[in-house]
This record gives sequence, structure tokens and C-alpha cells, in this order.
Amino acid sequence: MAQRVFFATSEVYPFSKSGGLGDVMGALPEAMQKNGQPAAVISPFYGRISTGNYRLRLTVPDLPVGYPWAPITASVYETTHNGVPLFFIDRAEYFDRRHYYNDPNKGDYFDNAERFIFFCRAAVALMEHFGVPPVAVHAHDWQAAMLPAYIYFLRRSSPFWASTGTVFTIHNLAFQGRFSSRLFESCGLPREAWNVAGVEFFGDFNLLKSGIAYADAVTTVSPSYAREILTEKYGCGLDGILRQRELYLYGILNGADYTIWNPEDDPYLPRHYSASDLSGKRECKDALISEFGLDPRLRDRPILGFIGRMRGQKGIDILNDIIPDLMSLDVGVVALGEGNPVHEAKILEHMDTYRGRVAAVVGYTEDLAHRMQAASDLFLMPSRYEPCGLTQMYALRYGTIPIATAAGGLRDTIIPWPGEEATGYIFTEPDPVDFLRAIGDAVDVWTRDPGGHHQMVLRAMRQSFTWDKSCREYIDIYRKIRLRL
Ligand code: ADP
Repeated sequence: MAQRVFFATSEVYPFSKSGGLGDVMGALPEAMQKNGQPAAVISPFYGRISTGNYRLRLTVPDLPVGYPWAPITASVYETTHNGVPLFFIDRAEYFDRRHYYNDPNKGDYFDNAERFIFFCRAAVALMEHFGVPPVAVHAHDWQAAMLPAYIYFLRRSSPFWASTGTVFTIHNLAFQGRFSSRLFESCGLPREAWNVAGVEFFGDFNLLKSGIAYADAVTTVSPSYAREILTEKYGCGLDGILRQRELYLYGILNGADYTIWNPEDDPYLPRHYSASDLSGKRECKDALISEFGLDPRLRDRPILGFIGRMRGQKGIDILNDIIPDLMSLDVGVVALGEGNPVHEAKILEHMDTYRGRVAAVVGYTEDLAHRMQAASDLFLMPSRYEPCGLTQMYALRYGTIPIATAAGGLRDTIIPWPGEEATGYIFTEPDPVDFLRAIGDAVDVWTRDPGGHHQMVLRAMRQSFTWDKSCREYIDIYRKIRLRL
């Protein structure tokens, strides 16, 4: 069998998804295969995983996972999605839960460290079980970050791992998987990993840091974010070790999966449309106005959409702050997301106050996200930082003009107004004043220069962030790191 790259991830669309990581892992492995690099995915078998349309096969009933636990096993289920083999690690006590990482009412699961350390160790055991060393192991985010560390130390004693490169991708540096030092004792890494150049972080055990410290290459999801995280402002305390590893740090822009996000054939939309005929977009807008009971006058005024986690990172509080001002611009606002209960309550309060002008849905609804992308005229992303951001890429394809901060991947994907090439509005500081000014510009163009707005929509829809280029960059990294082994 040709040597595969194994992706280890805590989310993979369409089986599991809580944000961009799920989307990326649903698309990148398939693109890898199309670019000539065989790939497979390893992910946990959650209780809430959606396997409806897939035939799952129990491939390894009792995979011994080994030290540091007493004899303990995982069951491994296999399926195929778009030609990519997926392996789900099943151990009910860890993964058979309603949520992936936390209980919305009680916070993070108390045993997250144990759960995802188990996941990483089971992934090592599974790859050894297959008997063919992978060309590379590509781990994503803190939940899979122990894998590069395990392989780093295994190489010393196990010829099996001698020629396998490891890549660690950071999708969001703020989520680090930081736990008590006590948990290090039972993670199975040698004592020498416990130091500031290893997994220790201010006396705690930091799983993300193990990926940064021990992977052969570290990547993040846009060139701008790769530069930003080297600074104290965006480094989340890890800028020091990232600077130490700068030679092996790459910024590779995520792609968008246009087989799923395309207004020409999106199954969730009431009407399809394309750049050559935008009438369907109007109908999508009318349908959303009816569905949400919005003022019909908004048919002729811009609707501003927000889709994302309702957390400080996404600037939902900044949006909440300016909603009263937005009302004087005579626009509609629709928001979808879940997160911090304070922000959720605030947007719902606005909905009450500005009935017919503001609509908000607190929750996670895949199909509504698609319909809102199509129905909105402008798309709001006042993020305080944004590693890559996928929703603005989707918005562009749906002809919904983004208004976003000059952060990370937003800067790398939106061409700022004014200018002949503009595809969106960029503002510098994630604060209410700048945000409001940028929205004011966009609404002004929409109102006074419909032709200009229309041209911008057409340009936006022509933007293409495919996975092919990113894939080739990853494949090149796999090759480079193996030369160094
Ligand atoms: P992040 O990964 O930081 O959350 P991204 O922009 O990279 O942000 O990706 C977010 C993904 O999650 C997009 O596919 C978006 O449509 C989806 N999403 C976010 N919140 C919701 C929600 N409440 N309901 C449905 N989809 C959502």
C-alpha cells in the first residue's frame, strides 16, 4: 500500500463539527488524495456523531492502547467518505457523550485531558497495528497535539516510526488544553518532556505546547496569523516557543469546500443562484424575511448577517454594542450562534427591542447557516483575531460582502474597499467606532451606488480559495521534513 498521511483530529465533517476545524478535516484529506497523496483520518467516535448515511465497519474490536493505563482497549470503526478512509476510536466511557468537549451548563468535561491523551495513544496504536509506517502524521489542535510528542520519543526506540514526519496544525492558539501538572505523570511521555522547552507552561501541562515543541513542522491556517502569533499580542503566552520554532513554522491558508458551499447547488437554499443570475439571492432573502417575521421593507434595505461562536474572539459583544446605532441606518440584522450566555442574552434582548429588524437564533443549525449566507447582503466579522476564518470565504462565494477586522486570515482573503478590486470592507481596530464606520461605508455604497455594490458582489463570487494550492504546500512540507529525519 502506498504510504499514507494520517490526519488526527477531534472533528471531521460531516460526522462531527463545532466550527472550522470540522470543515477543514472534511475537505483537506480528500483534496490530498486528489493531489496524489493517499490520506486517512483518525477521529473519536462521539455519542453524538452523525453516521446516518454511512456504513460503519468494526475493523479492530480490541485495540490495546497500552501504557500508561492498565490493559485498556479501544474499538475502531471504519468508513469511507469521498474515497477517504476514516477510523473512529471508540471507547464509550470517554466519547459516548452528548457534546464533544463540554456540557453547556457545567463547562468543560473534567476528564478532557485523559480523553484526548487516550485518543492520541489509541491513534499511535492503530497506526502500528496497520503495520505500514505513515509518510506523515498530521495532528490538529490541542486534542491531537500529543501525537507529535509521542512519535518524537518513540523514534528513539522504535524503527517503525523512524521515517515518519510529524506536522502539527494550530487552528486556534487560544485553545490550548491546559491542565494540572499532575496529569503529566500519567501521560506516558518521559520525564525530560517536563520543561519550558517541552510541555510545561507556567507549572501546568499544556497539550497544545507539546505539538508545538515536538512536531517536525508546525503550521497555522493563514500566512498573516502565522506572523501574528509570533508577537506577544496574539501569542497567547506561546509566542516565545513559537519564535524558537520559527524556522519550522508555516502559514498555509485554508481552502473552502465549494462542493458544500456553493449557491448554485446548495441543497439547503430555497432557490439557487449564480453570478450570471442573482435573482435567486433575492428570493433567498425574501424567504428569510418571511421565516423570521422581519419587516417586509427590509427587502429594499441591506440585511447584515452574523454567523459564528458568540464569544469575545468573534466580536459578538462589539456587534451587540452597536445594534442600536445600526437601527438608525435602517438595516436589518440576523445572527446565528451560540457561546457565552451573556452575549446570547444580549442579542435576544435586541431582538425583543427591535422586533422585525433584528432576528437571532441561539443554537447550532447547519442548514440555517447556509440560508443566512445566501439571504444576507453584508456579512459581519468583527473578530478580535481570526486564524483563518471560513465564513467570510463562504460569504464571498454567496455574494454577501464581508465587513471584517484586519486580522489573520480575514486580511488574507478579503480585498479591501475602496478600490477596483475590492471584495469587502476591512477596519483596523475591533472596536465599536471603527466597526460602525465600516458598516456605514458599506451601507452607503449599497444605498447610493447599487452598481458599485453589484460589481463588488460579482468580484466576490469569483474569488476562489480551493484546497489544491494548500494541499501542494502541505505535501511539500511532508517531503521536506522527511529529508531532515
Ligand atoms: P471557527 O472555527 O473559529 O469557529 P470558522 O469561520 O473557521 O470559525 O468556521 C466556522 C464554521 O462553523 C462555519 O462552517 C460556520 O458556518 C459554522 N458555524 C459556526 N457557528 C454556527 C452555528 N451556530 N450554526 C451553524 N453553523 C455554525
